[in-house]
Amino acid sequence: MTNNKTLDVAIVGGGPAGLNAALVLAQARRSVTVIDAGQPRNELATHLRGFLTRDGTVPTDLLAMGREEAERFGVTFTEGSVTKASAIAGGFELALADGESLVARRLLVATGISDTFPDIEGFADRWAKDVLHCPYCHGYEVRDQPLGVIAETAFFGVHQALMVRQWTDDVVLFTHTDDAIEPGDREKLDARDIRIVSGKVTGLEVENDELTGVRLADGTVTPRRAVFVGGAITPVPRDQTLRDLGAETNDTPFGPFAAVDATGATSVPGVWAAGNVVDPKAQVVISASAGYQAAVAINMDLIEADVEAAVAARRAR
Ligand SMILES: Cc1cc2nc3c(=O)[nH]c(=O)nc-3n(C[C@H](O)[C@H](O)[C@H](O)COP(=O)(O)OP(=O)(O)OC[C@H]3O[C@@H](n4cnc5c(N)ncnc54)[C@H](O)[C@@H]3O)c2cc1C
Repeated sequence: MTNNKTLDVAIVGGGPAGLNAALVLAQARRSVTVIDAGQPRNELATHLRGFLTRDGTVPTDLLAMGREEAERFGVTFTEGSVTKASAIAGGFELALADGESLVARRLLVATGISDTFPDIEGFADRWAKDVLHCPYCHGYEVRDQPLGVIAETAFFGVHQALMVRQWTDDVVLFTHTDDAIEPGDREKLDARDIRIVSGKVTGLEVENDELTGVRLADGTVTPRRAVFVGGAITPVPRDQTLRDLGAETNDTPFGPFAAVDATGATSVPGVWAAGNVVDPKAQVVISASAGYQAAVAINMDLIEADVEAAVAARRAR
């Protein structure tokens, strides 16, 4: 869709962050388009938790409802990927994978993250079923069951094991790639009856489409019904659009993520970012809320630009 008309706002990414921003901007009477590659982070999850009035919704249904709402206020959607962003006079030009392009005065990047998986046999197949990254999203479903925690650092493993213990009294912490648990942490795990199993995890045992155990390099299998792996995956921001434009990053425990202020403004004037692409911990409602905040700030920025132009035009007359 090569669009010669300059839009007020282009939003890259149609997940919760991008869609909520689109809705707010369209209701503020801005012309908005959302370009979306259709791969939201939670697309394999069967239900959504922790979002008031939407608890239990299939995540892709939530996005379909969000699109429909935004469309009612005039938001347009383009299926596809933005492959290149450039700053031009008065705004930004976005090139799409299909060779088309569009121009907008302001840009919101809400492209989320990719979760990269460790080299553990069966891990990807069980993702979002019984290989789980976050107890707030999945803990309730597996409460009171034999659960495991796999992490790449002792620090994260201890943290997540103590957390998962809230959902069951049968937790095993697999030390996997880092056996160096501090004595004080061992005392905490012991006090909460969390068992430590040392050795590298190499595979997951599955029967009848259910996780049954965790296998170590020496062949030992520890029976488990589900594992939490928040510390074994690496969130990688899908931030090429921001990098094209030279947005500054902050170093985080997960690697560099775009630096933004409380409204999502990046270091590049006219460019905002919201949701997982700047905060891998942000849940759906938090990402949607960040999209809202960015939309308000973008609208204000456009209002200021419009007022400035009007004053200049009046003075010139
Ligand atoms: C298995 C799983 C279960 C989860 N369960 C829950 C839960 O129960 N409750 C909860 O609150 N949170 C849950 N989450 C977290 C939730 O997925 C995130 O909070 C949410 O997806 C973040 O929204 P977002 O808009 O930032 O990014 P996303 O939802 O990932 O959306 C980003 C969109 O941008 C698109 N995109 C990326 N790059 C481009 C590009 N270059 N051009 C165009 N489009 C692009 C992507 O295809 C995608 O559609 C879960 C996560 C996982 C992995």
